[in-house]
Amino acid sequence: MRDISCKLLVIGAGPGGYVCAIRAGQLGIDTVIVEARKTGGTCLNVGCIPSKALIHAAEEYDRIADLASGRNTLGIRTTKPEIDLSRTVAWKDAIVGRLNNGVSGLLKRAKVKMVQGQARFRDGKTVEVETETGRQVIRAETVVIATGSAPVELPSLPFGDAVISSTEALALTELPERLVVVGGGYIGLELGTAFAKLGAKVTVVEAQARILPQYDAELTRPVSRRLQALGIDVMTGAKAKGLAKAGGTLLVEAESGSEVSLAADRILVTVGRKPVTQGWGMEELVLDRDGPFIRIDETCQTSMRGLYAIGDVTGEPMLAHRAMAQGEMVAEIVAGHRRVWDKRAIPAVCFTDPEIVAVGLGPEEARRAVSDVRIGHFPFSANGRAMTKVGEEGFVRVVARADNHLVLGIQAVGHGVSELSAAFGLALEMGARLEDIAGTIHAHPTQGEAFQEASLGALGHALHA
Ligand code: FAD
Ligand code: NAD
Repeated sequence: MRDISCKLLVIGAGPGGYVCAIRAGQLGIDTVIVEARKTGGTCLNVGCIPSKALIHAAEEYDRIADLASGRNTLGIRTTKPEIDLSRTVAWKDAIVGRLNNGVSGLLKRAKVKMVQGQARFRDGKTVEVETETGRQVIRAETVVIATGSAPVELPSLPFGDAVISSTEALALTELPERLVVVGGGYIGLELGTAFAKLGAKVTVVEAQARILPQYDAELTRPVSRRLQALGIDVMTGAKAKGLAKAGGTLLVEAESGSEVSLAADRILVTVGRKPVTQGWGMEELVLDRDGPFIRIDETCQTSMRGLYAIGDVTGEPMLAHRAMAQGEMVAEIVAGHRRVWDKRAIPAVCFTDPEIVAVGLGPEEARRAVSDVRIGHFPFSANGRAMTKVGEEGFVRVVARADNHLVLGIQAVGHGVSELSAAFGLALEMGARLEDIAGTIHAHPTQGEAFQEASLGALGHALHA
C-alpha cells in the first residue's frame, strides 16, 4: 500500500474531528481523516442523537399515557399506549444511519480523504492505520488528535451481562422491569427518566448530596420534583459497592452507612467519561497532561509543535458543540488565520424533564467574580405560552453586573428551554446588557418572553410579575 502524505491529518471523526476536517477541506487544505468505527463519533452513534431520540419516544409515550389516564385537563381521551421498543430502536438507528451518511457526504464534498481503521502514532508526523486491506502509513505536516472519550467503569461493577453503559442502554430492545442507575448526572438522569416514562421501575444511586451536582440547587429542584412524580427513587450520598453473590442485586452503601440491596434486571453505570488516551501510541509522543486529559493552549496546540488536540480528549466540558467549535478553529489556524479560543460561554443543556440550560456564570460564581450583582428571575407560571402547553414548571434567571448591567450568565429550567440556549448564548457572546434584552421585542406568546421579563426584573420593573 502506497504511503499517503498530506498537510493535515485528523484522528477521530467525532464532532470535533469531522468538523475540523470539513472546515479544513473548505479552506483548500489537503486533509485526511482516520476513523476506527463510524463517522460522527460518540455523539452521533451512541450519544447525543440516539439519546434524544429515545427521550423523545419516551415523552410521546408518557404524554399519551397521561391522556389515557383520564386525569389530564385537556379534555382529550384516548386508550392506553403500547410500545414495541425494538421498533423504536430501529427508528433511532435509521436516524443515526442517515446522519452517518450525511457526515460522510459532507467530508467527501469538502474533498477530505477518509481512511477507515485504528490509527497509531509512529512519531509526531507519522501515523500507521490498520485498515481492512493492510497497514496504511500517513505522513502529515500537522496532526489533530480528536479521539474523544469512553465511559468510566467502576472497579466494583465492571461492564458485562446486566451491568451496562449508555451504549448498551441505547440499544435495548426490551424494557428492563427494574433499572438501577448508578450516577445521577447527565446521562443517568436523561436515560433514567426516559426508561421510567416507558414503564421501568427506576432507582438512581448518586454519590453526591444531590442529583446533577454540576448545576445549582434552584435549577435542579423542578427536576427532582418530576423524578419523584414519575416514581423514580433517588438515593443521594449513596455508593454502589458491587453485585451480591446471588446476582441480580446491587449492594449500595446508603447515606446512613447501612447496606441496601436493590434488585435489578439492568444496572446502568453512568459515573462520567474518560478521555481516550490509550491505543493510539501516545507513549511515542511527549505530551503534557492536564489530569487525565491532553493539555492544550488557547489555540488547542499540545506541548508538541504541529500537534493539536480537540474535543473530549482535552477536558471539560465534554460537549459536542465545544468539540465542534475547537475543530473549526484549529482548521482555520492551520489555514493561516489568526484565531484563539475567545468564547465567552459554552452553553450546557441537560435534556431532563424539565430541561435545564446554563450559559455563563450562575449567581454564586458571579458573586465570586464581581462584588455586586443583579439577578432577575421570571417564572413560567406567569408566562402565557408555558400555561397553554401545560408546562408551567420552571423559570428563566438572568445574572448581571450591578454597576454596568453587563449580563454575566443566563439559566433556565422548564419544558423545551433547550431551544432558548441559542438566544442566551448570543446575548453573552455579543456582550449584551440588561437593557439590550429588555429593549428587544420578544414575540408573544412565547417562552422567550420570560427571558425579556427576567431582564426587566433585574432592572426593577418586570411587567408581568
Ligand atoms: P467522540 O465523539 O468520542 O469521537 C471520537 C472518535 O474518534 C470516535 O469515533 C472513535 O472511534 C475515534 N477514534 C478514537 N481513537 C481512534 C484511533 N486511534 N484511530 C481512529 N479513530 C479513533 N454532548 C452534547 O453536547 N449534547 C448532548 O446532548 C450529549 N448527549 C450525550 C449522550 C450520551 C449518552 C453520551 C455518551 C454523550 C453525550 N454527549 C452530549 C457528549 C458528546 O457525545 C461528546 O462531547 C462528543 O461526542 C465529543 O466529541 P469528540 O469529537 O471529542 O469525540
Ligand atoms: P456526569 O459527570 O454528568 O455524572 C456522573 C455522576 O455520577 C455525578 O453526579 C457523580 O457524582 C456520580 N458518581 C460518580 N461516581 C459515583 C459512584 N461511584 N456512585 C454513584 N454516583 C457516582 O457524567 P455522565 O452522566 O456519565 O456523562 C458524561 C459526560 O457526557 C457529561 O459530563 C457530559 O459532558 C456529557 N453528556 C452531556 C449531555 C448533554 O449535554 N445533554 C448528555 C449526556 C452526556
